Amino acid sequence: MNHVLKREEPGWYHRLGDYFRKQFGQPVYKIPLDAGFSCPNRDGTIGTGGCRYCHNPSFSPFSREDQPPALSEQLQKGKKKKPALYLAYFQSYTNTYASLHKLKELYDQALAVPEVIGLSIATRPDCLSPAILDLLEDYANRCHLWVEFGLQSAHDKTLKRINRGHSVSDFVRAVTLTHERGIRICAHVIIGLPGETAAMYAETVDLINKNGIEGIKFHHLQVVRNSPLAEDYTAGDVPVFVSLARYLPHLCDCLELLNPSTVVHRLASQATNAALLIAPHWPESPGQIAATVTGELIKRGTHQGSRFNG
Ligand code: SF4
Repeated sequence: MNHVLKREEPGWYHRLGDYFRKQFGQPVYKIPLDAGFSCPNRDGTIGTGGCRYCHNPSFSPFSREDQPPALSEQLQKGKKKKPALYLAYFQSYTNTYASLHKLKELYDQALAVPEVIGLSIATRPDCLSPAILDLLEDYANRCHLWVEFGLQSAHDKTLKRINRGHSVSDFVRAVTLTHERGIRICAHVIIGLPGETAAMYAETVDLINKNGIEGIKFHHLQVVRNSPLAEDYTAGDVPVFVSLARYLPHLCDCLELLNPSTVVHRLASQATNAALLIAPHWPESPGQIAATVTGELIKRGTHQGSRFNG
């Protein structure tokens, strides 16, 4: 049965901006941060070399090869000129990969900024001890908290191919434990990973739906310099969506299958350092991408959740 779009829903998909306006009565912006963490999939704890597509400085404005600027400076620089509210977005690397003392110190530093009303903490699904969950639950009780897990694909063979270093069941376990603490989750997925098909993208959305995940970030596969994927791309092993028009049908199919209440945090990848992007190069801005997606859904006569089987 088709989901009927409610009158108060202002768009064809559940945009993060609308969600924030509803929750806080005004826009809330994320300030992306590099808090100096590392990653267990790079330092040998879980793996070495990292995920094949990853080179953090390509997508994180404050990320770096050496030392990032002080957190206070990043928070200050990330603010808009007009008065606004913010979430401190711990984005780069694995943001629960440190001692409890260090995590608390960094999260508290961000929340000490008066306009920062919450945290968004990006991490791996295999980087959550009971003590870290206790800590996150405490923050969930006193601020607006999202935990962002990289999933990328609901297929173990793909996760292995891209060297994620965790399985789909690790992700599901982390989601269950995090939900038990009353914490909302945003899952990151990539459309266009090597070897994947449209049916596989649909299965990834199905996993998100089945696990009651509150938010999703869609990315199209990007090949960036200094990533292992760049070597595969040069060898001709990695097809990419050469234009937004090629990506659009897959994204809209995923949106139609997605639970209508899931908040869409992102529609496509955004390389913040264009010099590091090898492919694909799309001319559209994020705003133009959003307008194109809405236009396509209108043309189809569908919307987020129109084919959701909940
Ligand atoms: S994508 Fe995340 S988990 Fe993978 S190597 Fe990069 S920082 Fe580590």
